[in-house]
Amino acid sequence: MTVGADLLDEARAAQARAYAPYSDYPVGAALETSDGRVFTGSNVENASFSVTCCAERVALFAAVSAGAREFRRIVISAGGRTPYPCGACRQALVEFAPALPVTVIGDDERVHEFTLDQLQPHPFVLDTGRPA
Ligand SMILES: [Zn+2]
Repeated sequence: MTVGADLLDEARAAQARAYAPYSDYPVGAALETSDGRVFTGSNVENASFSVTCCAERVALFAAVSAGAREFRRIVISAGGRTPYPCGACRQALVEFAPALPVTVIGDDERVHEFTLDQLQPHPFVLDTGRPA
């Protein structure tokens, strides 16, 4: 599989901006909206570890804050092992794009592709009566 070079470049640029002094595991994410905009995020760690936020959620929250609600794909890049998204990020992404294509690539340059419903097959959902 090939990854769109633009999205991978954006993910890697975000990875380079990561603040990861505790884990030494920099991660970048590039989230493409349905109208072609790209929002990036990098992991931002904190001495109080629970305050840390993953790159995927940083990108998602930036996108949602800018009004985006529909997404085409996310590419996640890391300096180290393959960066499969954590459970919290999977759940956060499911809210907006349950079948989102997810591409992950680590230092070994091997590209792994999934859909979010493969990674998070039984997400937590609330029946709000709103259309899905
Ligand atoms: Zn995460």
